[in-house]
Amino acid sequence: MAKKQFKAESKRLMDLMINSIYTHKEIFLREIISNASDAIDKLAYLGLTDDTVKTRRGDFRITVTPDKEARTLTVSDNGVGMTAGELEQNLGTIARSGSLQFKQEMEKGDTSDIIGQFGVGFYSAFMVADKVTVITRRHGEETGHMWQSEGADGYTITDCEKDSDGTDVIMHLKPDTDDEKYGEYLETHRLQELIKKYSDYIRHPIRMVVEDYRQKEKPAGAGDDYKPEWETVQEEKTINSMVPLWQRPRSKVKQEEYDRFYEEKFGDWQAPLATITTSSEGTVTFKSLLFVPSATPYDFYTREYEKGLQLYSSGVLIMDKCADLLPDCFRFVRGVVDSPDFSLNISREMLQHTRELKVIAGAVEKKIKNELVKLMKDDREKYEKFWAAFGRQLKYSVVEGYGAKKDLLQDLLLFTSSKEGKLTSLAEYVERMPEGQEFIYYVCADDAAQAARLPQVERVADKGYEIFYLTGEEDQFVVNTLAEVSGKKLKSVADPDALPENDEEKAAQEKQAEDAKPVLAFVKETLGDRIHEARVSKILKSAPVCMTADGPMTLEMEKYFSRVESNPMMGPMKAQRVLELNPNAAPFAALKNALGAGDKDKAAKFVEILYHQALLIAGLPIEDAAAYTELVCSLME
Ligand code: ADP
Repeated sequence: MAKKQFKAESKRLMDLMINSIYTHKEIFLREIISNASDAIDKLAYLGLTDDTVKTRRGDFRITVTPDKEARTLTVSDNGVGMTAGELEQNLGTIARSGSLQFKQEMEKGDTSDIIGQFGVGFYSAFMVADKVTVITRRHGEETGHMWQSEGADGYTITDCEKDSDGTDVIMHLKPDTDDEKYGEYLETHRLQELIKKYSDYIRHPIRMVVEDYRQKEKPAGAGDDYKPEWETVQEEKTINSMVPLWQRPRSKVKQEEYDRFYEEKFGDWQAPLATITTSSEGTVTFKSLLFVPSATPYDFYTREYEKGLQLYSSGVLIMDKCADLLPDCFRFVRGVVDSPDFSLNISREMLQHTRELKVIAGAVEKKIKNELVKLMKDDREKYEKFWAAFGRQLKYSVVEGYGAKKDLLQDLLLFTSSKEGKLTSLAEYVERMPEGQEFIYYVCADDAAQAARLPQVERVADKGYEIFYLTGEEDQFVVNTLAEVSGKKLKSVADPDALPENDEEKAAQEKQAEDAKPVLAFVKETLGDRIHEARVSKILKSAPVCMTADGPMTLEMEKYFSRVESNPMMGPMKAQRVLELNPNAAPFAALKNALGAGDKDKAAKFVEILYHQALLIAGLPIEDAAAYTELVCSLME
């Protein structure tokens, strides 16, 4: 019979498994048992609406059978089974997302210590077996099918007899070598240990015949001098405790167990950054076990990423990724919700409209937020790691829906501050505000170093006020949406009202503005449409010039829109640029003198230079760099 070939990446993964020198090969059992458990879940789910599912809930089981003579280890389940087509599809290709990520890590090179961290799935059987036979019958079918492979060179699929639903995975163990004793996977005590270690929380019984050494019954009529006799008996037992991890009290579960559960269930290779458990017995009874990943999933900002929590009702999986349970702002959270308050055969469409779902979603949202706030307080380093991974998501979520979630999320935000360049929360900023400081100050820039040197920063910084350096491209939108925190307005340092002024100062400024009118008119005339206005600056202290913007569109927003694809219907998104001049600085005097001496040519050159300097400082592009260079050089002649 013709051998079929594996898909290319499956073949590579398989090669890797076969030749693995990885020391924790034992994880193969966890993978095979986990597949068996999933298959039972699938059949149980069908059974909710399909009367032909004969296996009653109490009969579901996974059976582990070592056979020393045949040197095989068999894991059987009475789950949903596979059709010939599904066999082909599922065991000829890498299926799970974890494996795909694994594949990407694999391509980076070193593979030896990443195997155990991934859920690598079915192929991990080839770490310990040189031949694997899968005999399966799909629920609803009459005949069974057999898949067989001796490694990377391919597999066969044939029809075969099987008299019940489910799947047997028969692993023909490799011969022992000096370094590797594959025979250990035929020893019941070793198998028992592995099942306890990796698969204890599996909800279906994992059954195995174990040896028990026990006292013989005392024969009737035995006298006082009867000495107890011992015997060895073979007995099938359930090895795992079957209590799902989320049903166990947190104090009884080691973090290590949560980590292992998370890695296995969600195909991550890093332990979670935070583990969150809830238990509620109010209007709706439910338990949840939630995880915040340690790193941004590789597809997080793509359309492929699907948010959602697994929803169980009394231990039966109802929905794999229930999106309605998780608000978008926390879409990075993974986990499980279990509530007996859902009827088991509710349709997915109906589910979305239930009150219970909304209540749980609300509670989950609140809990995640509170845990993150706590993390920020108790373990700042960890929180900043979280922020690096998912801060952008939180900021987007503040802006989304016209700020519908801003009250929920504002406590979680961090921005770089002028104080030691550290990440600072809004609450920490407000707490540090000295008497008399009215606003929360910020400045937008490409990075913190640039922000610190911006001319418009000087005036506020010299007052000793702290300033947020907003360096994310979405930050301007975030502060616009927030507008105010704890009764304090967020204020750009470039805003003319950023610092309060007394009447004397105001009068002096008005006079200066009046005196500067002819110069300003000349500046506007020279620059034409390139600026909206030329103005005597209220915000510059020592620097001669800067660029700001009037109206709702800021320079940072203009930069942002020039990077993202613009909407052709709306035309280019441009800020109304304002060239601000400092009348107390030497360049202004030079310009005024040139005008006074009637040298308009020279004055126009000065204007061009000041304008270009303002562009450069603001990080805006210069239209014609060559012309500008020529201009500067001409002044040196
Ligand atoms: P994953 O379980 O993450 O999808 P695997 O490589 O472990 O990846 O398995 C591939 C697929 O093969 C599974 O998704 C499932 O559809 C199918 N499969 C594996 N084992 C069984 C089983 N015991 N019963 C039914 N289907 C199975």
